[in-house]
Amino acid sequence: MQRTFVIVGYGTMGFTHTNNLRTLGVDVVGVVDIDPVAEQEAAEAGLHVYPDLAAACADENVDFLFICTPNEVHRPIALAGLAAGKHVITEKPAMLNSAEIEEVQAAAEAAGRRFIVHQNRRWDEDYLVMKALHDDKTLGDVTFMETRVDGSRGIPGDWRRDPNRGGGMVLDWGVHLVDRLLCMIPSPVKTVYGRLSYALGAPVEDGFTIYLTFANGVEALVACTTDNYAPRAKFHLTGRRGTATVDDWEMNGKVVRRVEDAEPDAVPIVAGKGMTKTMAPRIVDYTKLAKIQDNIEVLPLPRIDSDINDFYRNAIAAAEGAAEQAVSTASVIRCMRVLEAARLSHETDSVVDLSGSDTYLER
Ligand code: NAD
Repeated sequence: MQRTFVIVGYGTMGFTHTNNLRTLGVDVVGVVDIDPVAEQEAAEAGLHVYPDLAAACADENVDFLFICTPNEVHRPIALAGLAAGKHVITEKPAMLNSAEIEEVQAAAEAAGRRFIVHQNRRWDEDYLVMKALHDDKTLGDVTFMETRVDGSRGIPGDWRRDPNRGGGMVLDWGVHLVDRLLCMIPSPVKTVYGRLSYALGAPVEDGFTIYLTFANGVEALVACTTDNYAPRAKFHLTGRRGTATVDDWEMNGKVVRRVEDAEPDAVPIVAGKGMTKTMAPRIVDYTKLAKIQDNIEVLPLPRIDSDINDFYRNAIAAAEGAAEQAVSTASVIRCMRVLEAARLSHETDSVVDLSGSDTYLER
């Protein structure tokens, strides 16, 4: 690939993208950073260090800026890059709010350049597997979905704790989890109810719970915690004929499906200090996967291979006019509007109605 990149912000993600692009054979011509330590590390990695952003923008050999800085400076760096005729890729969250994303997308269109957001978790296997199970109706029509990430290490002690720098878990993980849900459920969002958590006493939210209803009747719960020592399943998908879970990052989980339409009446069992028929568990030996037992079959999760390098390949092909952009800016704006509705819901302790204003977008 003959395209040339400059990395703006040579921290964790700047370093990661530099390595990924170099492995793909893409020319990373240099780096811009404001921290002498990061500049030193870039120089030691054999990268040219520009004195400042203006110098990188003035370099005619540069095709792309890849913004890997803290969130509050994504917007001015993107605008400067586009004004200089560069294509711009930015880390998530694209910007601090939807108005900023709209402004930058308008600047990209005026300049005839691409603006692309690194929504890398659309390539994660848990999401791809759940989307496949949803789309091929393995579980029948999906009615409810829960997606979450649970951590126990609090919010990192850097700019991620600063509300003025785009800190907080909504812009950190909300932009991934809600983004993927919106790509998966082919329907506009109807209502949003959000609760933000401040349990750790930080100036930004340390977690969130967002409840979404969709026009097609599907409902979803999206959650993130940073004070949870017993993580729950990352994905839990309920359909009319079964349930699927992804339990952890290692893709443990299962697909459980009802076999016969008719459900034999359950026998009451002793449970706790009472009797229950409704909640009587299935009598299943989970070591016998795929064997029909008690009117259900238990299947291993399907596996789907994906290559995150396809993100870079697509960005370059889109800039060359040879492919459609895999992550449309419209989809990123849509996600940010839902997150803004969740924050408003928290602040007003009310359900925010988006019916009529939201539109489903495939990507
Ligand atoms: P980091 O703190 O490790 O690195 C940020 C770098 O940007 C630092 O070297 C800093 O000196 C530099 N910087 C700050 N202001 C600058 C400016 N005005 N101009 C040039 N350089 C500047 O942060 P990180 O963890 O690499 O995160 C960077 C971005 O990547 C954030 O937007 C974050 O949300 C995102 N991120 C994405 C993922 C993902 O999976 N997509 C994961 C982690 C972080």
